[in-house]
Amino acid sequence: MPHDNGLAVEMTGLRRSYGDVHALDGLDLHLEPGELVVLLGPSGCGKTTALRILAGLERQDAGTIVVGGKDLSRVPANKRDMGMVFQAYSLFPHLTVLDNVAFGLKLRGRSRKERRTRAGDMLDLVGLSAHKARYANQLSGGQQQRVALARALAIEPSVLLLDEPLSALDAKVRVQLRDEIRKVQLEVGTTTLFVTHDQEEALAVADRVGVMNAGRLEQLASPSDLYAAPATPFVGEFVGLSNRIPARVDGQEAMVLGQRVPVLEGSTSGEGLALIRPESVEVIADPGGAARVVSVGFLGPISRVYVTLADATELVAQLPSSQAVQLQPGAAVRVSIAPSPALVVGA
Ligand code: ATP
Repeated sequence: MPHDNGLAVEMTGLRRSYGDVHALDGLDLHLEPGELVVLLGPSGCGKTTALRILAGLERQDAGTIVVGGKDLSRVPANKRDMGMVFQAYSLFPHLTVLDNVAFGLKLRGRSRKERRTRAGDMLDLVGLSAHKARYANQLSGGQQQRVALARALAIEPSVLLLDEPLSALDAKVRVQLRDEIRKVQLEVGTTTLFVTHDQEEALAVADRVGVMNAGRLEQLASPSDLYAAPATPFVGEFVGLSNRIPARVDGQEAMVLGQRVPVLEGSTSGEGLALIRPESVEVIADPGGAARVVSVGFLGPISRVYVTLADATELVAQLPSSQAVQLQPGAAVRVSIAPSPALVVGA
């Protein structure tokens, strides 16, 4: 939610080329005050370049950066007052946790007393007060990233920049820390740009997600809008609409597996392929069914069931494991899809 403490960020018409690679090809991205926007996209789409240009660590060939109404396009990085957290291992190993967090304040000439108070408050915020006298290399990876977050916030940054801050951590810590980053960000209200290639992470923390492809923004929308109404096939695939099922579009509806579903704006007309999420596919054991189970992958509470249809179309369904256990490879099944709106693309 937008927040009083945050500043609006306007990145407009950003271009950056490296030789003949267009890392950014006219990127427009505006963040509301206090908003957390995630830039999501495959490796090489330009996410990191966008973040580094906002930080002032990289110069744009064209375009402007305006933060809180101030044009920062030509302001050097050390005058932009942005807090950054990188992938990992960015703490000073020879400093204590408290001194790491206080580091930016020292650079800014704050008194020793003020540094200690502020750094202590920030460590409280990330739940690490008990470890303030340790050295950075005596902490786990997840703890180090919490210290990095406290350090970034200690200077009361104009904008918080997070570049794949969770990607070096194991899955469980990643989820915990992701939720904690979001909680802290809501509490301090700093406008935040978060870069990741992980779709689940993006949807979990963002106010809005910007999906990037080849140096441009394909869609900027709330996680639920992005999921329910992807604007392009690229966005659809990136947020997990991995099935492509033959479909026939007729006006506002399509026939998919003998079932009528509403079509999303931007769909093709006539014959096409409907993009359908695995959790929208239902698989029911039926000795008379024309589809066959190929394999079942167990993922804890849910399972992925791979199925082939009579016309050889391959599908993946995501079901509660309690249902999936009844489906053996080779079993005859009936397949249907949930009647939710679908994007249909040209075949
Ligand atoms: P990743 O998730 O792999 O970090 P990304 O989406 O962040 O990818 P960028 O790092 O922004 O992508 O890179 C965008 C494109 O620009 C890539 O093709 C990359 O190879 C190229 N690129 C980035 N920095 C440089 C550089 N300093 N010199 C040459 N090419 C670069």
